[in-house]
Amino acid sequence: MARVRRTESSECQNLMRIGTPTDDRQLRSVDTGCMPRSRSGMPPTSAIRRMDAREATRRVGFQLAERTWAAACALIARTAQPGRSARAWAASGHDRVLVVAPHPDDETIGAGGVIALHVAAHDDVSVVVVTDGGASRARGLRRPEMVQLREQEVRSAARILGVEQLECLRLAEGNWTAPHAERLLAARLAASQLIYVPTCVDFHPEHVAVARLLAGLLQPGQTVRGYQVGVPLTPVLVNVVADIGQVRTRKLHALEALRTQTESIQPLQRLARYQARLYRLAAAEVFWEMRAEVYATTTRAGDWRRRSVCPYRGIRPWPGSDPLAALVGLRARLALRRLADRGLQFELCNSRLHQPG
Ligand SMILES: [Zn+2]
Repeated sequence: MARVRRTESSECQNLMRIGTPTDDRQLRSVDTGCMPRSRSGMPPTSAIRRMDAREATRRVGFQLAERTWAAACALIARTAQPGRSARAWAASGHDRVLVVAPHPDDETIGAGGVIALHVAAHDDVSVVVVTDGGASRARGLRRPEMVQLREQEVRSAARILGVEQLECLRLAEGNWTAPHAERLLAARLAASQLIYVPTCVDFHPEHVAVARLLAGLLQPGQTVRGYQVGVPLTPVLVNVVADIGQVRTRKLHALEALRTQTESIQPLQRLARYQARLYRLAAAEVFWEMRAEVYATTTRAGDWRRRSVCPYRGIRPWPGSDPLAALVGLRARLALRRLADRGLQFELCNSRLHQPG
């Protein structure tokens, strides 16, 4: 995730401060600025009490909403059992794995757990970060500072996950061209067997632009796993589920290293908790696995270029509307699923035709 939309940023900043006692102190220091003050220069005690009451109410609302949706996920897990139609993730121990991230954080958010698991299984793991993430205006940082900090952060996160080969292509976010990016990426993609990629099921134009770029570069026969960031793939598309329970703490530490993006990452962690409930695991990452040919077909079919025509909705700071992230765009997901199934049938049919005898 690169940025919190500006219209949501102030609300988001306030909402995301809810949590720990330290956060409460921050709230006081930030939000008491416009209050009447006593002679001592401090806001009156009654004003602080009113503010505390508002924050307490908001905190209870957050918890209540998340618990409700988590309970709904648990109910779906028991009744529909979405895990039955997905394969359990496993590492071979000899794969050349590449994780492609549009921004310096997407690799950790979408695949941080399996990165750590691939490393533990002695797979050869590389991570490529395509853009510099400089369009983010989180914490009021200017572009040069943001770019520098985000690269430092992603390097820290990669170290925590055990990645030794991390490359930042440093393309200016929102201002890069496909031919230049193709030159930088083509050889790395060709040398990989298993590639983790963003998909067109997303609300961020940069994620979709990178998916479009990859769709044109992948070789027939390569296996890709689409990861999710802010838009749930949902059981409609998920066909591989990774139990990341044993590396859960490591992933959380890696996410904590992405300090400039804390506010946009917090709602995504809620999404991760729902997902774990849905697949009855302590912690899970989900993927849409397909052959490169199918990825190219679905990415082209599901492509969108402007936010106004994006069929999906990401998870937002306030948890009250969380289910909409899965429900909005359901028809588009079903169409992609049909397209992917047709591609698979076509491949199976082709392989049978070419079998001797
Ligand atoms: Zn991103």
